[in-house]
Formats: sequence, structure tokens, C-alpha cells
Amino acid sequence: MCYRCSDCGYTYDEHEGCPKEGFPAGTAWASIPDNWACPDCAVREKADFVPVA
Ligand SMILES: [Zn+2]
Repeated sequence: MCYRCSDCGYTYDEHEGCPKEGFPAGTAWASIPDNWACPDCAVREKADFVPVA
């Protein structure tokens, strides 16, 4: 499952995680802190991300 930033298009992939943000591969979206901000635009937060099929 992937989640896309509604602003800049950055996509978080649960299979890949985001190691530079401290989330190893396989980190579930549910494990991401609610106040986590998009690493690309730093504008949108977790709640603004849209699930991508
Ligand atoms: Zn963004």
C-alpha cells in the first residue's frame, strides 16, 4: 500500500519505508506518527496523504 502527498506528489511505500526519515522498509502506515510531515514539501502531514491503490 502506498500513500501520496496531496501537495507535491511524494509517495510513501510501506514496502520500501523511508530510511532517511527513520522508517525502515516494511514500516506500516499505521506506525507513522500522526505529526509526521512530508519529507519533500514539509507542508503536508500524514492526515493529508491519500491512499494509492
Ligand atoms: Zn509533499
